[in-house]
This record gives sequence, C-alpha cells and structure tokens, in this order.
Amino acid sequence: MSHSHLSFAGDRLPYSLNASHLTSAFPSTYPFNVFAAGLTELLQETDDVDVFRSVITTLEDSSFRFLAVCKVAYGFEEVEALEREVGFYQRELRHLQGKYIPRLFGYFVGTTVRGTTAALVTSDEGRPLLKPFACLSLQFRKRVYRGLRRIHQAGVHHGDVLEANLVVRRRKDGSYWPMIVDFDRARKHECEVKGKKTQIYGPCPEPGEDVCFELYAIGGEEGLDIWRPKTAGFEGSWIPAEAVTDVNSALESAAARGIISAKNLSPERSRMIAQRAVNYVHGWYDQRMKWDRSPESPLDDI
Ligand SMILES: [Zn+2]
Repeated sequence: MSHSHLSFAGDRLPYSLNASHLTSAFPSTYPFNVFAAGLTELLQETDDVDVFRSVITTLEDSSFRFLAVCKVAYGFEEVEALEREVGFYQRELRHLQGKYIPRLFGYFVGTTVRGTTAALVTSDEGRPLLKPFACLSLQFRKRVYRGLRRIHQAGVHHGDVLEANLVVRRRKDGSYWPMIVDFDRARKHECEVKGKKTQIYGPCPEPGEDVCFELYAIGGEEGLDIWRPKTAGFEGSWIPAEAVTDVNSALESAAARGIISAKNLSPERSRMIAQRAVNYVHGWYDQRMKWDRSPESPLDDI
C-alpha cells in the first residue's frame, strides 16, 4: 500500500507550511502519489488552525485539478479534533459527502515547525453564508434543515450550527445550495427524531420529544424560523402561541393557566395584554410572509 503525499508550496502560505510535506493517513482514492497545494485565498486564521482555499494538482497528470479547502491544524489538541472530524467524514457522514457536506479528498499528517500538523482537505463547495437565516428563502431554509436532519439521522450532533458554518453555492437552476461544514465540535448522537417530519409553519415541535435540542434550536425562531412561535408572553408568564388566535382565545388560555387570577389582573388590563399577545403571534406571521415574498440572496452575487 503506497502512501500519498501532499506538499504545500508558495510564499503566501502560513510560514510553517511553506514547502512542507504531509503524508496521507489513509490511502487516497486518487491514483496519484504526490499532490501539491498552493494557497488561493486565506479563509480563516487562528492560533492553531488555518483554513484556506486551494487548488490541488499533481505532477503525474497535468489535467488534474481539485478545488479544495484545506483546514490545517497545529498541535496535539487541534490535530486530535481534526482527526475526530475526519472520522465523521469517513464513517457516519460518508453517504452525505457531496450532498450535504463537502467531499473528503484526504487527510494528511506530519510535522512542521509548529509541531504536529494535520490537514483535512475537502472539496470547495462555495462561500460562507453571511446573511442571517431568517431573511433567506423558504426553499433555502428547508434545504439547510433537511441537511442537518440527515446529519442527525446519521448519528451526528454538529455542535456549532451557525450561518458561518455553512457554505453556499449557486446552482445552474439559479437556486442556492447549502453545505454544512466544520465538524470539529461534532459528537455521536442518538437522535430523538429518526426521520420524524415537522410541518413547515406548523406548530412548534417540543424539544426533547418531537425533535432533539440541536434541531429545535436551528429550526426555531432564532434559527431558520420554519415553525410557528411556541409561546406568547402574557404579563411575565407565557401562554402557548397555538392558543392565540384572537383576544378571547388568548384570555381563555391565560385564565385556564391561572395567570389572570394569580396576577390579579383587571378585565381591561387582561384584554390589553391579550391583544398584545395576538399582535405578537400575528406579527410573526406577517413578518415571515414579508421575508418569504422578497427573500435576500444568500450570497452577494455580482
Ligand atoms: Zn438530533
């Protein structure tokens, strides 16, 4: 079994990678032995991790070009995290590569002037999402949710789902496709959902029962906003948003929960607070429809 090597070359690379060679930790799926990676664009730079866009080439075939993202980790702890990440790519999430997560090109390890160094090389799937989820089209938000749900069904909790950990590419049909990246905080996960479907703009699912907490957080109001609000405020307490269709239904729900008697609210004040709850729930819907009618583009295309 022959190992393949990845050599970094170019003076724009992080100092410790300039002209350094790393060896693949598992046989590459490509039939070449020596790959070269240069730096096209630095995407992220921290003390222990560099992420950059790169073109991988090989001297063995001048037509070979792989547009890649290299995530390079330095030091024992960071390398260990990267190794866990590559494990998820190889095992649990293997079938989602190229669909909801980038394709794995290879994993290379070695030593540089910064000590133990490893590089995770994956396909370049577009640009990081910089817009808040809520202002994007329903189609796009559904794609994000579906992707994360598939990851959960595969037994993985991402641990850091936020806009910046999504990359987006424009497809030929003009729509945008999100891929979920950055699995260095991921862990194995027995998901409560197991394929259970929630309804778009339907009742908010119960976290821990209908959906697990990560899916709840990403689908909810602070995330993709694909369900109706769960609760509406009522004088420092809460009533279920589902109960708030009009002022009377809000009043009934608050009374049934003992809020009105506990707070000793006058009928006038109760009505006023109920009206506020109605405005909140209907306001959510109006705002949602407004965004959906004229969503923002996930990328600032020129
Ligand atoms: Zn889950």
